[in-house]
Amino acid sequence: MSASVSIPPAPGEEGWDILFTDARLATMVPNGTPYGALEGMALAVKDGHIAWLGPMADLPNQSARRLVPLEGRWVTPGLVDCHTHLVHGGDRAAEFELRLTGASYEEIARAGGGIASTVAATRAADEQALLASAGPRLEALLSEGVTTVEIKSGYGLSLDEEAKMLRVARRLAADYPVTVRTTFLGAHALPPEFEDDRPGYVQAVIDMLPAIARSGLADAVDAFCEKIAFTPEETARIFEAAQALGLPVKLHADQLSDLGGAALAARFKALSADHLEYTSEEGVAAMAAAGTVAVILPGAFYVLRETQLPPIEAFRRHGVPMALATDCNPGSAPLTSPLLAMNMACTLFRMTPEEALAGFTRNGALALGLGASHGTLEVGKAADLAVWEVERPGELAYRLGFNPLLYAIRDGRARELPMAA
Ligand SMILES: [Zn+2]
Repeated sequence: MSASVSIPPAPGEEGWDILFTDARLATMVPNGTPYGALEGMALAVKDGHIAWLGPMADLPNQSARRLVPLEGRWVTPGLVDCHTHLVHGGDRAAEFELRLTGASYEEIARAGGGIASTVAATRAADEQALLASAGPRLEALLSEGVTTVEIKSGYGLSLDEEAKMLRVARRLAADYPVTVRTTFLGAHALPPEFEDDRPGYVQAVIDMLPAIARSGLADAVDAFCEKIAFTPEETARIFEAAQALGLPVKLHADQLSDLGGAALAARFKALSADHLEYTSEEGVAAMAAAGTVAVILPGAFYVLRETQLPPIEAFRRHGVPMALATDCNPGSAPLTSPLLAMNMACTLFRMTPEEALAGFTRNGALALGLGASHGTLEVGKAADLAVWEVERPGELAYRLGFNPLLYAIRDGRARELPMAA
């Protein structure tokens, strides 16, 4: 413990809220050292932000309300899960079981399976029910150090039902220690009432946008551009309408085929293009030029038993930032473990453990337009931290099914913070 620290501060004295001492920091700032690592460090929090960080020897003579000696433990930025469908009704466990006992795709569809079943279950649930079902999934993310999560709509597919999903996402932000960014995904699938009228539904999505923008319920607009979903032309029309309203865009792109989704996202200066298994070299180059982040989603690749690997080496070569996310959704990725997603990215896609952690911190924040305020340990950024019981940061991606999180802090607040010794 530093002799210069007094607890608590004298009345009226300006002090830090929390001071962590003797920490190893994986700052994730690209400073030429793996993980941007700094050892023997102190980190001070004030008003929800990182107020100071530096070597223990340089610690200023400043009081702190709480002192937390970390005894050499590793601290990373709080994790950012930048692509989830966390809010939804029902689940698809019965469909999972049917498929594994030999039912055909058609039989499952006839039994009411697939995305249509999630749309029906989501529409049938009120806000309270959606909140109650999303809560445990969010808790699972938080238990592994997530402090920021993106949540998409896309199972309501009408203005009222999409707005209901987005309101639930906003309520999660109020009820849990997590920053939530919401994304309007009206162009996720065709709702049953537009089954035979694709142009009609694309127009309906465009017509929903002004009300969604006015409501302030969505921070971005997304679409599913794929042979089984919406065409590049339909996606472009929706993106033009979104941009006219000042809403940034993201895209489910090139997951099952190369429709030029990455280049389309780049044309609209999208925050991110996501999935990208089939993205071509030209698509990667376009993303690099536009500053569009690649969001890699190994959970869906694993569940769908895909074989086409995303062009990781091309993203590296072109300097496209790679984010990682769980894609938590009831169909193709019922995954609520960012740590397992990191392992999958390394094992399946040959990303490095450092790239995997950058994917859930610095680059995850970039994919949400939060690069200036989140994703790295730097003075002035949000005091979102995760403290881990590991010997080295690479362990986070190494294990399967083991959670070494001690606790996480969001905006300088923790649910359980060890008191000063
Ligand atoms: Zn998705």
